[in-house]
Amino acid sequence: MCGISGIWSPASADPTEAARLTFFTLYALQHRGQESAGIAGTDGRDLRVIRRMGLVGQVFAEPDLLALSGRAALGHTRYSTTGSSRIENAQPMVVRDDALGDLAIAHNGNCINARDIRTGLEASGVEFQTSSDTEVIAKAIAAAPGETWDAKLVHTMPTLSGAWSLVLLTPRALYAIRDPFGVRPLVIGRKGSSYLVASETSALDTVGATFVRDVLPGEILRIDDSGLTQVADMAAGRTGMCVFEHVYLASASSDLGGRSVYATRERMGEILAEERPAAADVVIPVPDSAIPAAVGYARTSGIPFREGLIKNRYIGRTFIQPTQELRQHSVALKYNALRDVLEGKRVVVVDDSIVRGSTSGPIVQLLRKNGATEVHMRICSPPIRHQCFFGVDMARRDELIASRMEIEGIQRHIGADSLGYLTLEGMIRATGATREDLCTACFTGDYFVPVQLELSKESLERQRSPA
Ligand code: AMP
Repeated sequence: MCGISGIWSPASADPTEAARLTFFTLYALQHRGQESAGIAGTDGRDLRVIRRMGLVGQVFAEPDLLALSGRAALGHTRYSTTGSSRIENAQPMVVRDDALGDLAIAHNGNCINARDIRTGLEASGVEFQTSSDTEVIAKAIAAAPGETWDAKLVHTMPTLSGAWSLVLLTPRALYAIRDPFGVRPLVIGRKGSSYLVASETSALDTVGATFVRDVLPGEILRIDDSGLTQVADMAAGRTGMCVFEHVYLASASSDLGGRSVYATRERMGEILAEERPAAADVVIPVPDSAIPAAVGYARTSGIPFREGLIKNRYIGRTFIQPTQELRQHSVALKYNALRDVLEGKRVVVVDDSIVRGSTSGPIVQLLRKNGATEVHMRICSPPIRHQCFFGVDMARRDELIASRMEIEGIQRHIGADSLGYLTLEGMIRATGATREDLCTACFTGDYFVPVQLELSKESLERQRSPA
């Protein structure tokens, strides 16, 4: 996942404004990653970086913003897909070119040929300090031929494969780049004379910026004192926006491709109610991500919507904690059930997805323990049977419950009275896009570029320490 943002603020009277606004955009992007956070700032000469493990609110204090003072800043909040959860892998990372100076980089995505690029760079004497694909991208840019960063970027981007939304900062310019398929989102906003870049529109709203447009798939954009310039347009023949952004990853308060994520999720719930009806007394969501879908399900089915589970908002998203043991604990810690709502009721419980299948069973049990007479689980996406190589930690293929079991087996495993998934066609229809516009590989196994199926986030690690 990962959330990235940046600001170019040429005329600000307050030297901490760029870092301060970046800090608040990271707050709004925290749902995309909670392992580490970092901000790079520049005063037009030097580039400074502060990055630490932890939540955005824990990582930065007022003196840090002062230390990052300047006209521009870049931010990152991390959830690891390539490279493990350690401070060395935290971003922004910085590389140096003797003639051009420093370049800070923040990345959301997964570069699937990082291993090969790294091997090539190592053969020519480049040394690596981390196990992250972001360092590979950064060092590939620094090592590329060219007299300017623009030229180095134009040379490097076509050599990468996979998914990359990038924000880069030098003392002279801010860059926003999206891979040719546009797998991960990235948008441009304005606030006064400042330009902002962020993973999602909700981050622009948080700081009072207005949405200008998406960074287009394959675009390299430069923002500096002369404004916004398109350096290159390397779009592929088709796009491949991750459909799981619509299902789960993006904030419900964002727009993706000009369409409200909340409205798309409501539509998913409406279509799910048509495709997988249930005889029940009440529809409840698994909060928070499935709330809009449950609203849609209730509207179309005519069954009343109620809240039956209350989420403890101070416990992060289950998935964000990287070990299986922590994930299992957090299910029990995360929800309290409302007996008044559930007692004696046949309950439809709507969730966005089943991945490993460790959340749904405890939820069904919790509902029964609090008086539900029947539990009908409804899922707003199809069964996830394939690994994601493009920046979502979906787990290895053998950890995905739907890659091991058919739907009846999953229903028995989670202990529900019935289980119904949204169809692929229904999910795509809800997004307003076509199948060709989207990456649906986690559901279909249909990857838009060839992938090595054994590739995992530990693979760069193994390369780093062959022992
Ligand atoms: P589980 O089936 O136990 O693996 O957990 C599935 C739940 O975790 C879903 O209902 C989502 O709310 C959430 N989830 C699904 N995919 C992801 C992901 N890639 N990262 C974080 N959370 C996720």
